[in-house]
Amino acid sequence: MSVSPPRHLTLIGAGLAGSLLATLLSRRGWRVTVYERRGDPRVADYESGRSINLALAERGRMALRRAGVEDAVMARTVMMRGRMVHPRGGGTPQLQRYGRDDSEVIWSVHRKNLNTTLLQLAEDAGARFHFHHRLHTVDFDAGHARFIDDRDDQPRDVHFDTPLIGADGAGSALRAAMNRRAPLGERTEFLDHSYKELEIPPGPDGRFRIEANALHIWPRGRYMCIALPNDEGTFTVTLFLPNEGDPGFATVRSGAEARALFAREFADALPLIPHLCHDWEQHPPGLLGTLYLERWHLGGSAVLLGDAAHAMVPFHGQGMNCAFEDCVALADLLEAHPDTAEAFAAFEAERKPNAAAIQQMALDNYLEMRDHVADPGFLLQRELERELQRRWPTRFVPHYTMVTFLDTPYAVALERTRQQQRILAQATAGHATLEHIDWKALQQAVHAQLPVLPGAH
Ligand SMILES: Cc1cc2nc3c(=O)[nH]c(=O)nc-3n(C[C@H](O)[C@H](O)[C@H](O)COP(=O)(O)OP(=O)(O)OC[C@H]3O[C@@H](n4cnc5c(N)ncnc54)[C@H](O)[C@@H]3O)c2cc1C
Repeated sequence: MSVSPPRHLTLIGAGLAGSLLATLLSRRGWRVTVYERRGDPRVADYESGRSINLALAERGRMALRRAGVEDAVMARTVMMRGRMVHPRGGGTPQLQRYGRDDSEVIWSVHRKNLNTTLLQLAEDAGARFHFHHRLHTVDFDAGHARFIDDRDDQPRDVHFDTPLIGADGAGSALRAAMNRRAPLGERTEFLDHSYKELEIPPGPDGRFRIEANALHIWPRGRYMCIALPNDEGTFTVTLFLPNEGDPGFATVRSGAEARALFAREFADALPLIPHLCHDWEQHPPGLLGTLYLERWHLGGSAVLLGDAAHAMVPFHGQGMNCAFEDCVALADLLEAHPDTAEAFAAFEAERKPNAAAIQQMALDNYLEMRDHVADPGFLLQRELERELQRRWPTRFVPHYTMVTFLDTPYAVALERTRQQQRILAQATAGHATLEHIDWKALQQAVHAQLPVLPGAH
């Protein structure tokens, strides 16, 4: 007798991953019920508590394409060609392109627009949403989940007989419930830096006040400021600063102190942020950390994905992109494995090494963004990297290209990046320009160490 697969799933969290997964599964005939802590962002004032805009890369777009929502999302994005680096003490900002041309770019997308678009699509596909339901506790044996409505603190007990999927973000309550049932081997490493968000409003004519098609960076060694465009002409500015020391969040407390910091370190940005003092005092600093779990699932009863499974620091702009890849992988594996426990185990086996790799690359990228982008040795290596890609485009594929413009598995991208870094460091050691580079030795190294990469062109 064949066992028919459970076709009903319960999702916790209707954020970015939850709403995309609900769409993918509903379209394939699953009955999907979603519980979300907040109110419906399509009708209520949206308060995300998270970053306002996000960089969408190719692998995120691929997942949106699979869900049939790519065009709707892309209509409200702003293209970013590269990093516009603002030097200390003035000077003309310089654009460092991310890719070879405008086919290799990233896109700034507004979290609220993206979330509401995905929610609507999921609902159209048949998913059922329950807003104002914050998961509190789960009794896996009895099949009961307790939710709280934060408006009146009233509990709602819900019986469930379906697997649970945790898309409830970095502070996941489902993770806590699973952990209580059987330890997941959880460890979080907080960064000793936090972030604060500010805004550059549009100019008097309603247009962007600085170059729109770039991710602006003010790299300053131990800290940095970035700005991403929004399609209504604003920029969301994020300042990353150490928690301790000077300057740091412990010393730069008042709006006036923040203004003095900007006058000293980010002088060209200061006149663009008219509400700096007010926003500084109103917005608390956001914490940054990396979440590591040894296990992502509890047999066939529950599984985690997105930030709930592998929150990472935001310096590669990949947390959402990675969460979207998770959704496609899980939806495919649930179809491929009628046994849910097998599907969850296969999901963990496929995605965990890749999540670990992008978590590491995100930490590495912080150093690159805040410090190295202004360093001559780094710039020489980038120049050589471009030349090697031009000569052997299917073998020497820059790190950023693999992560951002291709869907190379993150773990493969990390391994090749390390190999390539060794090649670049050796070749440029003792050189200030590429004039006397040993191209023959480089050709041998590239062909010996770097097989052709699928998807590279
Ligand atoms: C400053 C910053 C900048 C970033 N920039 C980028 C970027 O440029 N590109 C990129 O790809 N990623 C970026 N990220 C990462 C990205 O925000 C996350 O990886 C992404 O939001 C993860 O999606 P998610 O659905 O897993 O979690 P979330 O988006 O956090 O969604 C979780 C959902 O669950 C709900 N929820 C929480 N608790 C409960 C509960 N107990 N019960 C029910 N519902 C609950 C929440 O309300 C929310 O709707 C950035 C992150 C930060 C902090």
